[in-house]
Amino acid sequence: MRVLITGAAGFLGSHLTDRFLRDGHQVVGLDNFITGNPENIAHLMGHERFEFVQHNISTYTYVSGPLDGVLHFASPASPIDYLEHPIATLKVGALGTHNALGLAKAKGARFFLASTSEVYGDPLVHPQPESYWGNVNPIGPRGVYDEAKRFAEAMTMAYHRAHSVDTRIVRIFNTYGPRMRPHDGRVVSNFIVQALQGEPLTLYGDGSQTRSFCYVDDEVEGIYRLFMHGDAQPTNIGNPHEFTVRQLAEIVLELTGSSSSLAFKALPEDDPKVRRPDITRARTMLGWEPQVALRDGVGRTIEYFRGVLKG
Ligand code: UDP
Repeated sequence: MRVLITGAAGFLGSHLTDRFLRDGHQVVGLDNFITGNPENIAHLMGHERFEFVQHNISTYTYVSGPLDGVLHFASPASPIDYLEHPIATLKVGALGTHNALGLAKAKGARFFLASTSEVYGDPLVHPQPESYWGNVNPIGPRGVYDEAKRFAEAMTMAYHRAHSVDTRIVRIFNTYGPRMRPHDGRVVSNFIVQALQGEPLTLYGDGSQTRSFCYVDDEVEGIYRLFMHGDAQPTNIGNPHEFTVRQLAEIVLELTGSSSSLAFKALPEDDPKVRRPDITRARTMLGWEPQVALRDGVGRTIEYFRGVLKG
């Protein structure tokens, strides 16, 4: 297959690019580096089945040659990033998705949307099945991301229904691992970097809010299987083991051997209190299940950040 991956220099986009290349496919990678990092794809420069185009998918996009898949992964994805780039975040979810869908339609390619557990907002149903419609504040600071992704899902289903485009929607839950940026702002990277640098670990609120953290290799495997074997209905891909943010801090302290203290900070506005995927659909349809326990994944991520911080 020859596939286009938008956001190919991002954390997930670059791992997904590696995955397609490993299975013998051709990848055209697109990124404008708003939050992507050229280092993430540096190892692919000169690869005979990889082409890279620096481009903003929110503007008109031309790609030459045939495409079998268009995977739309471009977007700021960390709360601090979409607060810094609110309009670019709305545009890439809305205009970027429209352009990527138009490209998929023109090429007769399968379209794959990277959506998010943020479509569930601050959920009133727990754990979250795909059938839950969510509890999102459209005008809060997170609304730029949440509503853009909700629009993107609606647009994807419209192209599926009106133009018979073969589509997939993944709802990605918190994912972590190598190639996250040290100052990405997400909780796993923040805690590890703080612990390694002997800085206090910043807990927002009292740290009792929960998340369910998926190691990147598991996430990418689920995404790949969904692309190859899934259907058009949205599918949660994430790890169903739930931890409080405080538990995560304790695990990071233990595994790094750091003596950093805990610093409690204000809870960001509209921060979801709980989050855990119901992965029944992915289990049944794809035979997929996360394999990497939090301690193992955090251990591997610590090794990665040790290298990055030394370099
Ligand atoms: N969080 C925290 N300290 C940090 C960064 C994040 O306590 O330094 C909390 C944040 O308030 C949220 C959870 O960790 O409850 C996960 O935040 P993240 O930004 O990783 O992703 P989110 O799931 O909120 O999109």
